[in-house]
Amino acid sequence: MRACVVGAGLGGLLMALGLLRKGYDVTVYEALSYPGGRFTNRTYKGFSLSTGALHMIPHGSRGPLAEALRRYGAGVEIMDSEPEGLFRVGGEDHLFEELPGLFPLVDKLKLGAALGKLTLGMVRSDESFETWLAKQVRHPLALRLADSFCGWALSIDSSMIPSKEVAAIAKNINTLGGPGVPVGGCKGVTDALVEAIQAEGGEFIYKSRVKKIGVEDGRACYVGASEKKPCDVVVSNIGPKATLDLCGQENFPRRYIDEIRRLREAAGIKISVACDKAMLGHTGVLFTPEAERVCGLNEVTNADPGLAPPGRHLLMSHQTLLPGRSIREEIKLGIRDLHALFPDFGEHCRVLAAQCYRGSWPVNRVMSGQSLGPETPVEGLVLVGDAVKPGGYMETDGVAAGVRLALDVVEDL
Ligand SMILES: Cc1cc2nc3c(=O)[nH]c(=O)nc-3n(C[C@H](O)[C@H](O)[C@H](O)COP(=O)(O)OP(=O)(O)OC[C@H]3O[C@@H](n4cnc5c(N)ncnc54)[C@H](O)[C@@H]3O)c2cc1C
Repeated sequence: MRACVVGAGLGGLLMALGLLRKGYDVTVYEALSYPGGRFTNRTYKGFSLSTGALHMIPHGSRGPLAEALRRYGAGVEIMDSEPEGLFRVGGEDHLFEELPGLFPLVDKLKLGAALGKLTLGMVRSDESFETWLAKQVRHPLALRLADSFCGWALSIDSSMIPSKEVAAIAKNINTLGGPGVPVGGCKGVTDALVEAIQAEGGEFIYKSRVKKIGVEDGRACYVGASEKKPCDVVVSNIGPKATLDLCGQENFPRRYIDEIRRLREAAGIKISVACDKAMLGHTGVLFTPEAERVCGLNEVTNADPGLAPPGRHLLMSHQTLLPGRSIREEIKLGIRDLHALFPDFGEHCRVLAAQCYRGSWPVNRVMSGQSLGPETPVEGLVLVGDAVKPGGYMETDGVAAGVRLALDVVEDL
C-alpha cells in the first residue's frame, strides 16, 4: 500500500511514521526546502528563532506528543517547566494556586469555586468562556487572567472559545501537567521525526508543492506535484481549506464545504528578543494579564542554553491578533508592553524579530473549540495538523492526538 503525505509539518511527520509502522510505503511532499513547517528553527544572529511555535510543548514530557515520540523511538529530551507558569499582577509574580488570594474575600471564594469546576472538567456549557466566567466572578482581574491564558496558549481571547472547551483543557492540564521545552527547540522534535522516518524507509521530496490531489469515483488516488504519483491513501497536512482547493470542491458534499468555511484560524504576533541576562530566570511561562497586548512570555534558554549564543538569552512574547487590527500598531503596543514589564529592557534587550502569523501561516489553522475530524467524505483522504485537534488538546499535543485518530481512520479504510 502506498501513502502520499502532503506537507512535512508536525502532523505530516507523525502520520508518516505511523503509516510506515503499519507497513505503508510513504512519500512526503514538502513545498519548502526543509521539514517542520511552523515547528522548526531558523538561525538568526546565533539565536534559534522558530518558524512558528514558542519552542514549547503544552503538556511537556507527559502529553500525547511526548508519548508519540517515545512510541516511535524519536529521541527527544523534554525539559518540563518549573514553575509551569507565573502570573504577573501588581508587579509581582504569583503561582496559579496563589491567584484567588489576590481577590477580595467574596470574589476569592467564587474564583476558587470556578477554578475547581474548570480543573475537574465540570463545565459543559456552550456559552463563551468570557460569559461563563462573568457569571461566576465579576472582578475585572478574573477576565484579564482568562484572556492572558487564552491569548498565550490558544491565541484567541476568552470571548472566542466555549467554556466547555476551556474546562476540557484545564482538566488535561490538571492530569497531564503543564508545558515543557524540547532540547533543540522545535527543530529538536521535527529533526528526530525526520531521522526516524528516513530510517524506516520513508522518502522526502522537498521544494515540491503539490498542485493537485486526484479524486476518481469518490476516492483519492494520486497527488500531482512535479509528476503524478498514484497512491492508496493521501494524508493532507496543509489545512482543510487548501485541501478542498487541491481536490476540487466538486468532490465534496455541500454540507462539508459549509462546515469547512465556518472554521476560523487563530492569528497572533510573536516578538523574539535577545537578552544579555536572564529576564525571567525560569523555564515556565510568565502570564501578563495587566499588559495591554502581550499575553505572556517565556525564556527557553533557561531550559536549553544552546538556543542562544553563549551567555545570552532568548525571550519570546506572544499576543493575539484580533480581526481588523493594524499589525504595525499591534507590534508597537507589544514592544511598549515589554518596556513596561521590564524597566531595564532597554539596557539588556534587543528585539530580534516581530513576526505576525495569520492566513496560510497562522498560529492555529482552526482555533481551539471548533472541531473537525480527520475523516473526509473522499475515501482514502485523511486530514492531520492543527485543524484536526480533538477537544481539550492544545497546539502540538492536539496535533499528536489528532494523528492518533487519523491512524484509526486509515485502519478502517
Ligand atoms: C507564533 C506561534 C506560536 C506557537 N506556539 C506554540 C507552542 O509554543 N507550542 C505548541 O505546541 N504549538 C505552538 N504553535 C502552534 C504550532 O506551531 C502548530 O500547531 C504546528 O506546528 C502545526 O503543525 P501542522 O502539522 O499543522 O503543520 P504545518 O506546520 O502547518 O506544516 C504544513 C506544511 O505543509 C507545507 N505545505 C503547504 N502547502 C503545501 C503543498 N501544496 N504541497 C506541499 N507542501 C505544502 C508547508 O510548507 C508546511 O511545511 C505556535 C504557532 C505559532 C505560529
